[in-house]
Amino acid sequence: MYNVLVTGAASGIGAGVATELARAGYHVIVSDLKLSDAERVASELQAGGHSAQAVQIDVTSDDSVEAALGSEAMRARPADVLINNAGLQHVAPLEEFPIQKWDFLIQVMLTGAARLTRAVLPGMRRREFGRIVNVGSIHSLVASPYKSAYVAAKHGLDGFSKAIALETADTDITINTICPSYVRTPLVDQQIAAQARTQGIPESEVIDRVMLAPMPKHVFIGMDEIAGTIMFLISRAARNITGHTLVLDGGWTVR
Ligand code: NAD
Repeated sequence: MYNVLVTGAASGIGAGVATELARAGYHVIVSDLKLSDAERVASELQAGGHSAQAVQIDVTSDDSVEAALGSEAMRARPADVLINNAGLQHVAPLEEFPIQKWDFLIQVMLTGAARLTRAVLPGMRRREFGRIVNVGSIHSLVASPYKSAYVAAKHGLDGFSKAIALETADTDITINTICPSYVRTPLVDQQIAAQARTQGIPESEVIDRVMLAPMPKHVFIGMDEIAGTIMFLISRAARNITGHTLVLDGGWTVR
């Protein structure tokens, strides 16, 4: 089974995907900025009899990526699959959006994905196999106000993925971007709480009238759906799917 490196895997979607893939028999490399949280996720998986290891990776740092990928543990289990998942949100009108913060979101979610992809590609080329899945978002396709950095990073991820699909078309490497609408994670819980505070309405109303309103199916996307889509994309059946987006949006963008 493949070695799967997941960034930002100490929380939310990353932790959920790491767990589902480990349960399916993959060896999971749980990486995060927060090492102790990554270690906790990996230990829980090991305690459940699954194959997992933890490593600290700050996707904004060349040194951090180099140290992690050069470590003995990772040299023994090089990444066959990379899930570019690390991310964060900041919500503000552009005029009030600190430019350093704006740039930081791009650094984590766009440049970070490029940094990790760049670092794993030589090994994937040597082994003549690789699968890269970017965790994009519904915001890779549509916009929401006050999320300009996030929307720019996630749109950029799709363009990045298309270019790398062409650069790797000569070998059995694919790169794709999955685009879920809302998934119930700490990142989304923070947004629900913040919007309830600023708009002076209950959290249930934020969920119902704001978050799920544009989505005909009107439900949060489940972790099993994200992991199932990733497992399809890394399977042999998907070897000619590259440079694409897979949209898990309950019909949001077909209106
Ligand atoms: P989360 O806040 O629960 O987890 C994000 C993780 O990324 C955290 O563990 C954090 O430590 C890590 N991280 C942040 N900066 C990092 C860095 N520089 N280096 C390494 N790790 C870093 O968030 P989540 O909701 O699980 O989001 C994960 C990804 O899914 C993000 O890319 C997000 O944009 C995307 N996404 C989320 C949703 C949603 O509804 N939750 C929907 C679509 C896409």
